[in-house]
Amino acid sequence: MTKQNNKQKAPERFAVWFRSDFRLKDQAALYHAIETVKHKDGEWFAFFHLDPAFTDEIDTHHDYFFQTLNHFRDSCSGKGIHLHIVYGELTDTLERIRDHVSGWSTVYFNRDDAGRNSVRDQKAREWFDEHSIEYFDYEDAHIHAPEEIKKQDGSHYKVFTPYSKAWGKKHKPDMYNIDEDALAEYQADLQPIHKQSETFFEEDLLDRCSMNWQALGACHAKDRLETFMDERLAYYKDERDIPERAGTSRLSPYLKTGVLSPRQVFHSAAARREDAGSGAETYINELAWRDFYYMIHYFYPDSKQKEITDKYQSLDWNDSDERFQMWIEGRTGYPIVDAGMRQLNETGWMHNRLRMITASFLTKDFHIAWRKGEEYFQKKLIDYDQSSNIGGWQWAASVGTDAVPYFRVFNPTTQGKRFDPDGTFIRKYVPELKNVPAKYIHEPSKMPEGTQEESGCIIGRNYPEPAVDHSTQRKKAIAMFKGDD
Ligand code: FAD
Repeated sequence: MTKQNNKQKAPERFAVWFRSDFRLKDQAALYHAIETVKHKDGEWFAFFHLDPAFTDEIDTHHDYFFQTLNHFRDSCSGKGIHLHIVYGELTDTLERIRDHVSGWSTVYFNRDDAGRNSVRDQKAREWFDEHSIEYFDYEDAHIHAPEEIKKQDGSHYKVFTPYSKAWGKKHKPDMYNIDEDALAEYQADLQPIHKQSETFFEEDLLDRCSMNWQALGACHAKDRLETFMDERLAYYKDERDIPERAGTSRLSPYLKTGVLSPRQVFHSAAARREDAGSGAETYINELAWRDFYYMIHYFYPDSKQKEITDKYQSLDWNDSDERFQMWIEGRTGYPIVDAGMRQLNETGWMHNRLRMITASFLTKDFHIAWRKGEEYFQKKLIDYDQSSNIGGWQWAASVGTDAVPYFRVFNPTTQGKRFDPDGTFIRKYVPELKNVPAKYIHEPSKMPEGTQEESGCIIGRNYPEPAVDHSTQRKKAIAMFKGDD
């Protein structure tokens, strides 16, 4: 006999609101909900709020996100769990759920406390209060919450190194052990909350998500995590800056969508500390960067638009569309910059070293506002994370907290020579440079005419001249920051 048949009166119902935490293991809100449901002998149901703001134009970031959501929904179905999708404005969605689900008393969700998402969460909390729905929210997407790590005087850190020291000393949260057998057993037997929303998602929205992602979902994430930790972690410190090697974990899309939890990634690396030595320590420090930028975004909620350093809020950026387009398309005439942008456009991911180089180039060589680059990355990155992206851009543009000083401008040619010495990565993403001799791969415009012909790469026809002169642009950038412009 099912649990349902034993009930005399309408059971108390508990919702789990999934957002960017698509997993059934080690998920804070889900864990707490299920424990309560079992304790109170209630029922639970899962929903995802599909916001119309994200469904008109499907960029790469949302294509990946919705396909990950769909994959997760399918794996839930495989375990007998229905993830309800409800489309509409936030409060309309909540009203709809309340009308449909009798006995709904409580909702569990994982916090998203930075930037515009915190506004949505606040609106939701107010609605729950008004409608007497009890809510419980948890820190889940980060190892330490923004308020957890403060200076002795109670203020927040602005510089990463002391923050990371304090972060390193703090006890790390354990993983949540979810009773997976209870998930289907205690699930409320409901008709879809809003069938039209589910049809819209399944038939319209997914139809418009046309990219072919090879490695979606928990199984691939687990494989990638284990392979990286077993085979590459020990070399991470030495290889993480070489774009052509598999030197970094590439777990960022899974962390962004919540297919993997940061706790799982942390404990996996920490368990190998002895064997992987400085590789493990360097890797764990990157997870601290993720928390650091989240904390910074939490304390500077308008930093998507506004430079954190006040004195750089009115720099005289260049608004040339032509240059911006060259950067977007990877046609700047600087091979390492072009390779990075084309990797982003083709794959939805870019190596960290290249994110730094391309962001520096846009701001310091083209003098285009970092906000435009941040927005472009938002559309294209499958691991787009508001806080890390804003943090990375403000760092590269020298306008953020603990940013690269404005007078230390990356030289794109030297960066290329250093991190892609024989041009293997460049040749992969900029095929017109494929046969260019190693001697010229970072400065193809210096090729003699005969070499251009031999390598099938005529400068100005097959590959552009450098769009700007780096040393001139560097001086101008420094002058702009100094206010000598
Ligand atoms: P690994 O080197 O394997 O690192 C492991 C994890 O640590 C990453 O998955 C990520 O979660 C975290 N991490 C590593 N470096 C950083 C960092 N500098 N800041 C914050 N977290 C870090 N990261 C994003 O997740 N989303 C973004 O939208 C994003 N935008 C960026 C924009 C710019 C301009 C720059 C310079 C960096 C940006 N980063 C962003 C940080 C970093 O480039 C990526 O996290 C990293 O390249 C992801 O690849 P990985 O998983 O192989 O990283």
